[in-house]
Parts: sequence; C-alpha cells; structure tokens
Amino acid sequence: MPATLLADANQRLEKALRYVTIHEDAVERLTYPKASLTVSIPVRMDNGSLRVFQGYRVRYDDSRGPTKGGIRFHPNVTLDEVQSLAFWMTFKCAALNIPFGGAKGGITLNPKELSKFELERLSRGYIDLIADFIGPDVDIPAPDVYTNPMIMGWMMDQYSTIRRQITPAVVTGKPITMGGSLGRETATAMGAFFVIQTIMPKFGRRPTDTTVAVQGFGNAGAVIAELLYRAGYRVVAVSDSQGGVYSEQGLDIPSIRKLKEATRGIKAVYCEGTVCSGINHEAISNAELLELDVDILVPAALENQITDDNADAIKARYIFEVANGPITSAADVILEAKNIQVFPDILVNAGGVTVSYFEWVQNRSGYYWSLEEVNHRLKEKMTSETELIWAIAHEFSCSMRTAAYIHALNRLGEAIEAKGTRDDYTS
Ligand code: GLU
Repeated sequence: MPATLLADANQRLEKALRYVTIHEDAVERLTYPKASLTVSIPVRMDNGSLRVFQGYRVRYDDSRGPTKGGIRFHPNVTLDEVQSLAFWMTFKCAALNIPFGGAKGGITLNPKELSKFELERLSRGYIDLIADFIGPDVDIPAPDVYTNPMIMGWMMDQYSTIRRQITPAVVTGKPITMGGSLGRETATAMGAFFVIQTIMPKFGRRPTDTTVAVQGFGNAGAVIAELLYRAGYRVVAVSDSQGGVYSEQGLDIPSIRKLKEATRGIKAVYCEGTVCSGINHEAISNAELLELDVDILVPAALENQITDDNADAIKARYIFEVANGPITSAADVILEAKNIQVFPDILVNAGGVTVSYFEWVQNRSGYYWSLEEVNHRLKEKMTSETELIWAIAHEFSCSMRTAAYIHALNRLGEAIEAKGTRDDYTS
C-alpha cells in the first residue's frame, strides 16, 4: 500500500484519468488539499483536570462550491486520514452533482471515555478554534463516525454564539428542532438502499434469493441491514466493533437493533433474548464476516477493511461500500480479477451528503420539507446518478469505481477549467 492513505486515494484518480480529457492544471490542483488546519483543543474534564485533544479540519477543493464533509471522533483520526476523507468528499459531491466541494474534520479521541458534558465542551472548543475556517458559504461540517445530531446542535449553537447570529446552515445533521432535515439520520443507508435496488435487477437478482452480510452496526450499517431485511433480502450476518452473528436462515434485524440499543452490543446479547429461539446462529468475528460466502457484502464500518491481505479470501459477488474507503486500491485489483463487482463509496454512501445538501437548502430558504419530499428527491438523485455511472462503466468497460471517478472528474475538471488554465494565460 502507498505510504499514506491520501496517496492510496489518489491512485483511484490516476486510473480514471486514462478515460477523461481534463486539463493537466485541474489534475495538479486535485492532487493536493487546498487547506489543512490542525488545532489543539483544551478541555476541562469533569474531575477538574485539563486535557488537550488534537483536532483537524481539511478543505480539499472548493471549485464546485463551499466545501462539505463530516467530523469524526475516533482514536485513529490523523491528519492523513482526514485529508483522504476530504478527498473522497470532493469526488462524492461531484459524482452526485451536489454543488459543494469536499472537506472533512476529526478529533483524535475515544468518545466512549468522555462524559456528555466533556463531549459538549470538546465540541464547542473545536468550533471556537475552527470558526474562521467554516461558514455556510465556506465549509459546512456534518456528522460522521461517532458524531450525531446532538453534537451537531452544540456545534451550530457555538458558531451562532461566536457570530452573534443564528446560523443553522453552518452545520448539517442537526436535531430537527434546530433546523435539521427530516430523513437526514437515515439518509446514508437509504441512499445505499436505492443504489442496491437500482443495481441488483440489472444482474437479474431478486431480494428473496439474495443473501447479505453487513459489517458495522452504527447509523449506516444498522439502518441498511433493516431496509434490506424489510425489502425481503436474507441478511445472514451483521457485526459491530465487538464481533458479529451469523445465521444461514437469516437474522431478525429489527430485534437485533432493539437489543443493541438496550445493551450496546450485538455479540453479547443476540442469544440472550427470545429473538434467536428457533434460529441457528453462531458468533463470528469481523474478519470472518468479510469472508462469508454471500451474494452481497456491505462494509459499513471504517476504512481499510479489505486489503491485499484478505482480498483473496473474499467470496461475496457484489460489494456495496457504505463506509468510506473500506477497500484499498491494491485490494481493488485482486477483487476485479476475481470478478467481484464493487460499488464505490463515493456513490453508495452519498445519500448522507445529499440530504445534508437538502438540509442546507431548507435552512437557507427557511422552508422545511416533508419526509416524503426528502426521500423522493433522494431516490431521484441516487437512481439517476447510479444509472449515469453504470452507463460510463459500460462505455469504457471499466469498474464502477473508475466510472464514478470519471463522472466526478468530468464535473470537477469543467469547474476548475472555468476559472482558467495555462492555455488561457499563455494564448
Ligand atoms: N460524513 C458523511 C459522509 O462521509 C456525510 C457528510 C455530510 O453530510 O456532509 O459522506
């Protein structure tokens, strides 16, 4: 694997560049993040001590509009990771034709170790330090791994206090009462569901004869597992960070969600209630889940789950990337050789940022939409862009990932070229 995550992300770009004719100036611009901010956030802990946390915000490219992307709270957050995530956001917004550039933020911590008050002070302290770097027309944060509407609400409130103006459009994924959009919490999974429903009939697959394994049981994983279950797919395995469960007959996903909410873990609880009576099931690890012989594999946890170490052992026929960057570029090559169809993150998980865009539009117009309207517009966007990317993949006989990058690059190239390239300055 290349030395950094960002270098690995850039390899996808290189592949797609073979099929597009964008100016070399645009390529040069897209190779580097526009601006990266590192901050040290002092937080007064509940016991009176002071801890300083490292935080980042990266604005990768704003050629197509203000930059957009989530903020993650995780022990593995580094500047390199945040830069790659901001790179992906740039291509995701372009692939979906959302008028935003790409950004990302993160704070290095284990959020489970902090009390709610400590998390609030940390969130507000982070906004104090990045306030001049963000704004409704500059850069708009949102939730990501281990951040949620409550945290977005604190952040919006802090920004509004600094600016002395209620500014809902500075952050998306807020609580509904603070200007959040209906449907935002389920949007990532719902968007992925629309992609799956658009793609599977093309392979002649019906839900009832299709098995699914979902890695990750957070906001995205749990909801996509339930949507697929309700649509008739046989969801045979799910996992969270502690481990997972497998049942050849299929799992009762709504019951697992209830148990997970009550006890915070899948592995420990699944068999203690009545839900598993009559179901043959076994405990499996996250690594085992990835290697199951299923039709659809949905990695919905973190990046770098399928690498050149385990790609050879993957048996799924179709992989839908709900997480950002779960497959490395080296693993892509191995999966392609095995004829496994991979549907890329920048398309599959774009439902989140799409409804974030809807939220920003609603905040700026001051007029709020019904859930039906949000989901209808989301479906329309996800379906039409999936079809366009599918057509590109067929035109160039390339993977859906490369097709999604081609699609995004065409739009990014046009925006960058509109501002002038070497040819404009030398002719
Ligand atoms: N964190 C989400 C993503 O990776 C959503 C970003 C947003 O809504 O701005 O796509």
